[in-house]
Amino acid sequence: MSTKQKTYLSKTVEQLKPSGIRRFFELASTMDNVISLGVGEPDFVTPWNVIEASYHALEQGYTAYTANAGMIELREEVSRYLKSNYEVEYNPENELIVTVGASEAIDLALRAIINPGDEVIVVEPSFVAYSPIVSLAGGFPVPVQTDSKDAFKLQPEQIEKTITSKTKAIILCNPNNPTGTVLGKEELIKIASVVEKYDLIVLSDEIYAELTYDEEFTSFPSIKRMKERTILISGFSKAFAMTGWRLGYAAGPKEIIQAMIKIHQYTIMSAPTMAQHAAIEALTNGERSVREMKKSYRQRRNFVVHSFHEMGLSCHIPGGAFYVFPSISETGLTSEEFAEQLLRKEKVAVVPGNVFGKSGEGYIRCSYATSMKQLEEAMKRIARFVSEFKK
Ligand code: PMP
Repeated sequence: MSTKQKTYLSKTVEQLKPSGIRRFFELASTMDNVISLGVGEPDFVTPWNVIEASYHALEQGYTAYTANAGMIELREEVSRYLKSNYEVEYNPENELIVTVGASEAIDLALRAIINPGDEVIVVEPSFVAYSPIVSLAGGFPVPVQTDSKDAFKLQPEQIEKTITSKTKAIILCNPNNPTGTVLGKEELIKIASVVEKYDLIVLSDEIYAELTYDEEFTSFPSIKRMKERTILISGFSKAFAMTGWRLGYAAGPKEIIQAMIKIHQYTIMSAPTMAQHAAIEALTNGERSVREMKKSYRQRRNFVVHSFHEMGLSCHIPGGAFYVFPSISETGLTSEEFAEQLLRKEKVAVVPGNVFGKSGEGYIRCSYATSMKQLEEAMKRIARFVSEFKK
């Protein structure tokens, strides 16, 4: 399109930067024998009983739309699951919505609450989708940095420094992607007091809640007086190895959930029906599979963290999700240089930390949701690469 021609694109969309992760995947896809520690997705196949439940649903002819908010049987299961696992109670009739992945839940939540110009605090390093979705909803993402000296735990005074009269909400990701950091109950209580003081809404993305390895997980809305101002986001992609099924959910105050359903009914109608049948099975009979996958992730996490320590790189022990976030500053390279040179020389794909925000510079994200055999080979290659810089 020549510069003289009028542009047909929305200014907001034009100004969005493509995800920094994509460039590396495009480069990696042109090469052979690449070990990818780049993608944030389980290497496991969805448990067989879950797959079978969707077969059965199809065989029985469940091929039509469901209720806009999702099948009531599934909402009841989600409600039961949240209560028994995380001590949070939601009415399946009007405080829950089933969405196309947690991704849609985040989008709906932000579109439901943002007025033009509202500011939303995004804790960095953060999942790459939050800030663009805030912008698309007409808001301004305002980053708050976390630091490796605090194991990337959000400090409440950092939030206070960022708050203005326009601040509407804060997005928390616990356990965090990309750092794997888990905020415990005491830390959440401190954050809650700032949230209450400044009357903020909290989007609590807890999609990795099942995948915590060292201590019991605390769900943000279970903190006193937080349920009425929290939109809990979760889904089936990570814990149940169901990324391709595209199923998630949000739970929260009736007024917000009903507003989200209003958007969802016009844009999506209802989440995939066979996936909803599968999700009921995942919640009712999936516990053992989750436990087994979790055991395997824990072993891999320990191996990968140990390997980075042996290389002489500092790497905090992530309490959850399936990522490690080691510092690569010892090599003298930037995150982008490290990731690109590692890919070209040793054919290992990792994600440069800077794509997750300013405080991610000097780090790389490695996903350990891949087989031990692949991880062993990847760590050998990374150690060889790093040793070149330490001579
Ligand atoms: N939140 C976080 C923190 C994630 O890491 C991801 C997936 N990478 C999502 C949400 C989106 O998950 P879903 O597949 O359910 O859309």
